[in-house]
Amino acid sequence: MKIVVAIKQVPDTATQVKIGGDPKAIDTAGITWIVSPYDEFAIEEALRLKEKRGQGEVIAVSLGPDRVKEALRSALAMGCDRAIHLNDPAWANADTLATAQALAAVIKQEQPALVLCGRQAIDDDMGAVGAQLAEVLGWPCASWIMEEAVDADAKSVRVGRQVEGGLEVFDLPLPAVLSAQKGLNEPRYPTLKGIMGAKKKEIKDVKAGDLGLTPAAPQVAVKNLEALPARPPGRVIQGEIKDAVKELVRALREDAKAI
Ligand SMILES: Cc1cc2nc3c(=O)[nH]c(=O)nc-3n(C[C@H](O)[C@H](O)[C@H](O)COP(=O)(O)OP(=O)(O)OC[C@H]3O[C@@H](n4cnc5c(N)ncnc54)[C@H](O)[C@@H]3O)c2cc1C
Repeated sequence: MKIVVAIKQVPDTATQVKIGGDPKAIDTAGITWIVSPYDEFAIEEALRLKEKRGQGEVIAVSLGPDRVKEALRSALAMGCDRAIHLNDPAWANADTLATAQALAAVIKQEQPALVLCGRQAIDDDMGAVGAQLAEVLGWPCASWIMEEAVDADAKSVRVGRQVEGGLEVFDLPLPAVLSAQKGLNEPRYPTLKGIMGAKKKEIKDVKAGDLGLTPAAPQVAVKNLEALPARPPGRVIQGEIKDAVKELVRALREDAKAI
């Protein structure tokens, strides 16, 4: 069974994100980049599926600039068999639809039985690429999955989605697109052998022209990024506890309008 995993490289969660000189983008100086955590659940699930079935191939695909190779290398170190890097300045301003169209074009060439994505990338947080990808491919899609089971013939997949108070269970014919939610599994750490082995695995560079694509101008344009206003300083209420509580309730009701 061939499985494609779409991964996005994002700033490390510990990064203090700053707006760049161009207020449409963040300042990338000094950022440590990681694979988006939800995409790690997707990689892990693809690897487990391959291991369970005892055969198959897992291909990691990512769209982004040169630095994205590092994220693909991490996916290979976890155990993916090969990687495809959609690497072309023509995609520099890609919105979610252009990203989905590029991913769909490479997926059409690869013809996997299953595509796994993260439920959202933790930087832009659009949560849109997976569903748009399924739409462009004309494949069924289930998002935020907590569990999956592909049938013996790899003709369909049963997925569970956590909803309030229970689990929603769906059957989808394959090929399909699934997006991973936290809790689907516990992603493995790459072993030393995996890290060394990843250096020899293929990362294929693909340009828009190789896929017969001319990315259109983004339909969604970033106008501006704005930092949140600085938090006002905290206030310590002094005095007798009885009076302090009264003042606290008043301040919460009248000043903060929180109660
Ligand atoms: C320089 C720059 C310019 C940009 N300009 C624009 C713009 O003009 N308009 C605009 O709308 N957005 C713009 N963006 C944002 C960019 O389009 C989004 O990052 C992209 O659309 C994906 O959205 P998201 O990260 O919220 O993904 P989500 O929809 O949250 O991602 C869901 C899942 O889809 C997959 N996925 C997402 N992105 C990728 C990827 N690149 N490669 C492989 N898999 C992926 C992953 O599995 C991910 O978990 C810009 C970004 C940059 C860095």
